[in-house]
Amino acid sequence: MSCIFCQIAAKEIPSQLIYEDDELIAFYDIQPQAPVHFLVLPKKHIPRLTDMTDGDYPLIGKMARVATELAEKEGVSDGFRVAVNCGEQGGQTVWHVHMHVLGGRQLNGCLG
Ligand code: AMP
Ligand code: ZN
Repeated sequence: MSCIFCQIAAKEIPSQLIYEDDELIAFYDIQPQAPVHFLVLPKKHIPRLTDMTDGDYPLIGKMARVATELAEKEGVSDGFRVAVNCGEQGGQTVWHVHMHVLGGRQLNGCLG
């Protein structure tokens, strides 16, 4: 399997895992853009947000919930950013849908 996030989910390559259940995992981003920067994603391989189908959308709600719970655990619940990059022009580089959660510094309006 060539998808790096599927390999992380399968424990074929290591990560700094901070959450796991039957459907989702979360781990710290290898190139953090903020003092707290982790990713939340489904174990199911879905390349992009636009590839999700009706049965997948509950996963997004669950990802938001896990992102929020982990933001609390990480001590950034006063303010953090959740972002999903979709497609090349949207800045996506890993083709397995994921939610970025960033916090621990002042985040400004422009996403760049
Ligand atoms: P995106 O550009 O939205 O597709 O985000 C992909 C993110 O995955 C980037 O922030 C990378 O730093 C991160 N990333 C890539 N490989 C790994 C890895 N092996 N472990 C943790 N984070 C990774
Ligand atoms: Zn994958």
